[in-house]
Amino acid sequence: MRSFDYTRASSVDDAIAAHAQTNTVFLAGGTTLLDLMKLDVMRPARVVDIHKLALTQIEVLDDGRVRVGAMVSNTDLARHEAIRTRYPVLSQALLSGASTQLRNKATTAGNVMQRVRCGYFRDGVSPCNKRVPGSGCAAIDGQNRNVHAVLGGSDQCIAAHPSDMCVAMAAIGATVHVQGPNGVARDIDFLEFHRLPGDTPWKEHALNDGEMITHVTLDAPLPHSRSAYLKLRDRASYQFALASSAVIVVLDGSTIRDARIAMGGVGTKPWRAQQAEAVLKGQPATQAVFQQAAAAAMQGARSYGQNGFKIALGQQAIVRNLSTLVA
Ligand code: SF4
Repeated sequence: MRSFDYTRASSVDDAIAAHAQTNTVFLAGGTTLLDLMKLDVMRPARVVDIHKLALTQIEVLDDGRVRVGAMVSNTDLARHEAIRTRYPVLSQALLSGASTQLRNKATTAGNVMQRVRCGYFRDGVSPCNKRVPGSGCAAIDGQNRNVHAVLGGSDQCIAAHPSDMCVAMAAIGATVHVQGPNGVARDIDFLEFHRLPGDTPWKEHALNDGEMITHVTLDAPLPHSRSAYLKLRDRASYQFALASSAVIVVLDGSTIRDARIAMGGVGTKPWRAQQAEAVLKGQPATQAVFQQAAAAAMQGARSYGQNGFKIALGQQAIVRNLSTLVA
């Protein structure tokens, strides 16, 4: 690991001011950053430690939304009563990710900001447009079975977004609140926060220079909804999703009155499947309808060779999740 300057911030303003110098990064739980620094993939000159900031509140607002502080740990978020009762899909997604030790350290903002798991990105030497713009993408014709996307890729990058939490948030609907230099705050729709790789895969999110996430607000739950997260992977724990689905449904008898679906493991960002939702709304809760919705969700999917099986697996993740939820 290379040497770097370390500063512990005592307030949000303090952190943002310290971040103004070039090549500076925020350190929250450190579960991504420290790995990438040890691998020499990230080489910051200065690290601003924000994990002691008082951004650890989970608060139910009067309008039914829930405000989650940026430094709330993944464990605390998953176990909080308001999350377990109002958003089972989010609690389940969080508990399906990583290991207990990592969930204890990982934060809400850090999870939103986590980097991809592509081996070519992390090895520090292979062609990788995300790490070294213009160097190429070794994954497109290489090892792309596990952590590469079939939706939202470009000829510059096909790395899948690795988060489970973000998939649940994409289904629920959320707003990311950020603060920048001079106290300027702004809100970003969660679905607009993560960027598709396009021609600039190194630009992964909508944050401007110097901005920091202060909290995330979850939309109020759909009345009378039920929800679940289903993660399909090679082994039962400590593994990234090959395909996952976050599903929220509202039933009126045996008719689907409303539905929200997002997918993980298959997209280059947390993938909201609005075409699938449109297929479901107003239709009977049958296997045939679930399969039509799943096919709609994967419209436009592209195989890059080894990861082609994800097109069918992604559909299975939706059909199985829906079948269990309405049973
Ligand atoms: Fe790099 Fe993206 Fe290609 Fe992986 S998929 S090698 S992260 S450009």
